[in-house]
Amino acid sequence: MEALQQQRIKVAVAELLVAIGDDPNREGLLNTPDRVARMYEGLFSGIGVNTVDAIDTVFEADNQDPVIVRSLGFYSVCEHHLLPFFGEARIGYVPDGKIAGISKLARALEISAHRPQVQERLTADVANAIFSVLKPEGVVVELEAEHLCMAMRGVKKPGTRVLTSATRGGFNNYPSGREGLIGLMHSS
Ligand SMILES: [Zn+2]
Repeated sequence: MEALQQQRIKVAVAELLVAIGDDPNREGLLNTPDRVARMYEGLFSGIGVNTVDAIDTVFEADNQDPVIVRSLGFYSVCEHHLLPFFGEARIGYVPDGKIAGISKLARALEISAHRPQVQERLTADVANAIFSVLKPEGVVVELEAEHLCMAMRGVKKPGTRVLTSATRGGFNNYPSGREGLIGLMHSS
């Protein structure tokens, strides 16, 4: 992020503090605009970055053994309220000739999560990226997350978890099919 934009964030946060009726010049808030500006540089580092670019290490694979990553923690920011939603992801795919470096799957989630997001689009974006780069038999991405905009405002239901799921591919040459993969993703 460029200096100019950081400066704009600082001005905007100071203005926001005035608008909510607080005093940006009181001691506790003096450095808040600067802190928020620096924090946003990290939180929104995925803006303008293509999710597929995360999956830049691809290997040949001569089998169709499923690859599953789970308990993959993530944090994102809901675009409707600019409040966090966070939880865990499960990613599974059945290769068809290509596999990705495992950390690259986590990186794809990371990039897409670091934008103003909705959970549904985040789920689909990661599934689309994996599908377009690896062209697997099939891929399933599941996200389970708590939304602070649900917990703190409106319906106020802390602890509620939202589950989203995206499937790409037909699993045509994988005997266990999509259900088989999902079974593995949830096995204990
Ligand atoms: Zn929200």
